[in-house]
Amino acid sequence: MTDRTLHIVGGGLAGSEAAWQAAQAGLNVVIHEMRPKVGTFAHQTGKLAEMVCSNSFRSDDSEQNAVGLLHWEMRAAGGLIMEMADAYRLPAGGALAVDREGFSQGVTDRLRQHPNISVETSEITSLPEDGHWIIATGPLTSDALGAAIRAETGSQALAFFDAIAPIVHADSVDLSKAWFQSRYDKGDTEAERTAYLNCPMDRDQYEAFIDALLAAEKTEFHEGETAGYFDGCLPIEVMAERGRETLRHGPMKPVGLTNPHAPDVKPYAVVQLRRDNKLGTLYNIVGFQTKMKYGAQKSVFTMIPGLENARFARLGGIHRNTFLNSPTLLDDQLRLRAKPHIRFAGQITGVEGYVESAAMGLLAGRLAAAQIMGKPLPAVPDTTATGALVTHITGGAEAKTFQPMNVNFGLFPPVTGLKGGRRGRRDRYKAYTDRAKADWAAWLDAEASGL
Ligand SMILES: Cc1cc2nc3c(=O)[nH]c(=O)nc-3n(C[C@H](O)[C@H](O)[C@H](O)COP(=O)(O)OP(=O)(O)OC[C@H]3O[C@@H](n4cnc5c(N)ncnc54)[C@H](O)[C@@H]3O)c2cc1C
Repeated sequence: MTDRTLHIVGGGLAGSEAAWQAAQAGLNVVIHEMRPKVGTFAHQTGKLAEMVCSNSFRSDDSEQNAVGLLHWEMRAAGGLIMEMADAYRLPAGGALAVDREGFSQGVTDRLRQHPNISVETSEITSLPEDGHWIIATGPLTSDALGAAIRAETGSQALAFFDAIAPIVHADSVDLSKAWFQSRYDKGDTEAERTAYLNCPMDRDQYEAFIDALLAAEKTEFHEGETAGYFDGCLPIEVMAERGRETLRHGPMKPVGLTNPHAPDVKPYAVVQLRRDNKLGTLYNIVGFQTKMKYGAQKSVFTMIPGLENARFARLGGIHRNTFLNSPTLLDDQLRLRAKPHIRFAGQITGVEGYVESAAMGLLAGRLAAAQIMGKPLPAVPDTTATGALVTHITGGAEAKTFQPMNVNFGLFPPVTGLKGGRRGRRDRYKAYTDRAKADWAAWLDAEASGL
């Protein structure tokens, strides 16, 4: 091992971006990815940067949305994940959705072709004693490595449960009942304005559907596995348990949509399916992550008008999500305090989402490269989306109640002197994102001149 070799464990969203950044900075990088030799319950290929559930990178609005701002920052830093997301973009009415196959193949090809990068198919099962390492093994970190991390960090590695939504073959949807339309016809092109498939329900159909959801057989947990759900990804049946109307005000809300098969009848509820691949052959049911047993899923979801004969490319499921208590375990450079030659990146650090995970990979790759080259970087300003996230997970968050976090403007230091409340929101968000862009550009400039 040379001094300039960086080892990255896990070639997911975070590990791939970390590898790219470090290799572009001139380091030799070895990615240790266990797939396809050792699998996880959610990944289906041996490719790098596989998206395991939704195909959305969420809002691409860098002026009014914090995750859109994170896209902007990653693009400005020459991020590979954003470059490939842009290259394989699908119409999605304001969101950045990607063709998952093309995207992960694109990332895989670029990394494998990079002269400074090699990829080893191996599972790492213990914490390395020396060298330079980034661990980016994600929410489904293998059992052996998870145990080693727990042994090192005490009982502070937490777990909670998360759920994924089913995917349907488009040609099995009955288009005499369903129709293509984005909510409020959002989007600049016809493809954007018709990016979703909609299935309408009248009141009786909705009530029968809720009854079936409540009665359906659910996956049981072992005793002790009682950690809570992340609120942004609640299983549909858990939402239904919270109130019969919850879904009608959540993923099944009937607003901004007109049924061309019955334009004068307002649906009582609408199930939306979002295009999942470039070919338009697969659609995922938006917000329908579930822990129902497979048989129950088929009988409940085929009650949806238009999906009576649906064929499922993948059913929903439930999974454990492993993450560190980063506020106590990591320093502001994402290094394990007790073993600073090891950094962590991605979802395992307690961020939530593809984009946030990739952003922490980008940062870890850059920080590692700078340190190994003897020019450690200044802290990223907490006024940027990347900086606000890393500041939150490595110290800003309350350690005792630490839960995975999506990027949001609540993590940013307030901009003073602007109107509060709803009316001032557009100006306030614009002020946040203007400030972030200027500070991120300055940080990248300082870094470029330092290295
Ligand atoms: C089932 C599921 C559904 C999700 N759905 C969404 C969603 O819809 N939208 C969203 O934004 N986020 C979602 N997430 C959350 C999260 O954003 C993704 O998991 C994201 O891929 C995290 O990026 P990562 O790089 O940290 O981990 P991953 O992308 O999972 O990458 C980790 C990699 O490490 C490898 N690995 C694990 N252990 C070892 C080991 N010991 N040695 C070598 N390699 C190892 C794995 O094979 C994997 O390739 C979901 C997560 C899960 C588990």
